[in-house]
Amino acid sequence: MNNFLSKKKIHKDSFDGYLKFKSLKKFYKITGRKKHVQTAGKNTEKLKALIKKKSNQEFRNCQVCNSRQKKFLFDKNGFIHVKCKACGFVYVNPILKPKVQERTLKKENSYINVLKNKVNIQLDNFRFRYGLQKININKKKKRILDFGTGYGLFLDNAKKYNWDCFGYEINKDCMKILQNKKINIDNSFKKNFYDAITLWLVFEHVPYPNKLLSKIYLSLKKGGKLLINVPNVNSLSSLILKDKCTMFSGSQHVNHFSDKSLKMILNKNNFRLKSMETIISDAGTVLNYLNYGNTFSKDSKKLSFTDPKFIHKHKLGYTLLAIAEKK
Ligand SMILES: [Zn+2]
Repeated sequence: MNNFLSKKKIHKDSFDGYLKFKSLKKFYKITGRKKHVQTAGKNTEKLKALIKKKSNQEFRNCQVCNSRQKKFLFDKNGFIHVKCKACGFVYVNPILKPKVQERTLKKENSYINVLKNKVNIQLDNFRFRYGLQKININKKKKRILDFGTGYGLFLDNAKKYNWDCFGYEINKDCMKILQNKKINIDNSFKKNFYDAITLWLVFEHVPYPNKLLSKIYLSLKKGGKLLINVPNVNSLSSLILKDKCTMFSGSQHVNHFSDKSLKMILNKNNFRLKSMETIISDAGTVLNYLNYGNTFSKDSKKLSFTDPKFIHKHKLGYTLLAIAEKK
């Protein structure tokens, strides 16, 4: 069974919700995203009030090149998005002080219902296996750490690919579930210990990504692999929808990488980039927007430049998937 799993090649369209259901409307409803969007919307005003207070604000330099020179892009839900004049990195400035952010996040957990949704789990399983095939190592004993692992769905899949699994997770409810699943918890980044470390849609949340990368560097063995999946600031949907694109969330997504800025920050932290591609076309969102609609509108018809093949060929997909190696 294990051999069968690791050999069957997964195609990226198999975990693209819009393509799978041939309808964005259906995908949002069936995976619980519709409910989540509605609930999260209620928190927007609260967060807007918090970031207005000077005592809650924290200012950062560009996290890629350390420059302070930046230009204003837009305000989303009270959060200012800027672009570094030196390297082009897009980031939120100021951010909420990490302590204030943590306190608010603890109360807002509607995305957990999406993560627990059965259909969503099926899609995530395919996405995770796609990633696992990219970092596959032919070794009998190999250790992997998933940073911000949540309920450990990625690690459930990693087990099937014969990885010895460790999760980094500070949420207490999640920690209990991980312990019940007999998944090891490592919240201290054991030194020179791992053959691979994975960051699935967490790097965009981290206020100081260089600090995290230096810890990861020490935790990986030489030649160890790092997988990063982050929203792509140069995706077709964000280039067209601009501030209306869901990747610009306000308080939560504070770093917005492109393939260029992701490559730069990896190089700076002594990682060698092995591959970079985009996954998730988000074609449905673009089509509906161009037809004056939104996520919940009747699905619009296909335009040639929203074809997933075209989108991924030009690295215009909604998220980037990078594989790097410790030098
Ligand atoms: Zn910069």
